[in-house]
Amino acid sequence: MSSIETLLNGFRKFRELYYEKSPGLYRDLIHHGQNPRFAVVACSDSRVDPAIVLQTEPGDIFAVRNVAALVPPFEQDGLYHGTSAALEFAVRGLHVEHIIIIGHAHCGGVDSMIQQQEGGEDLGMFIGAWTSLLREARERALADSPGLKGDALLAASERHAVRLSLENLTTFPFVREAVAAGKLSLQGWYLNIFDGALEIWDPESATFSQVS
Ligand SMILES: [Zn+2]
Repeated sequence: MSSIETLLNGFRKFRELYYEKSPGLYRDLIHHGQNPRFAVVACSDSRVDPAIVLQTEPGDIFAVRNVAALVPPFEQDGLYHGTSAALEFAVRGLHVEHIIIIGHAHCGGVDSMIQQQEGGEDLGMFIGAWTSLLREARERALADSPGLKGDALLAASERHAVRLSLENLTTFPFVREAVAAGKLSLQGWYLNIFDGALEIWDPESATFSQVS
């Protein structure tokens, strides 16, 4: 069954689990407000829902999802910055203790950036401009390993994209201030959706290491 009824059945299960079996959970979250300790920036890809991947409960994570799990650089141009607005609220409104960028393998957003850099067609009115923010991820991957291509170039660019988003995070004054005050940590993770492996960026050793 893959109709709207599938979703409505899902909602009925959610209601049974979180309202009938745990009637206090949402009541507390309403009375006391949300107090998530984690903000997550993840890709919109249907395979990498952070609540499922990290097995969290309602109220645990403040999630921002966009094409390629991308944090844009700080820009004050009066335009419409959805991801930046969410990050501002997470840090200044919710005082989250961690911001976690979760990039992933086989990311269509990173792939479309590579295709475009290699002369492919622009995929639409917005995707090309958005993913062009990741151009440097491909350039850095090629600087590390000249001649890289195909899946290997994609995987290397995806990991560099996570690092680029981490760097962009530090261009936001409120992020820099919270990190300097010891109130906020920034994390870069890479989810390999082939084999269910998670890698964490370690800035000290400048490597991703796999979670056991
Ligand atoms: Zn993706």
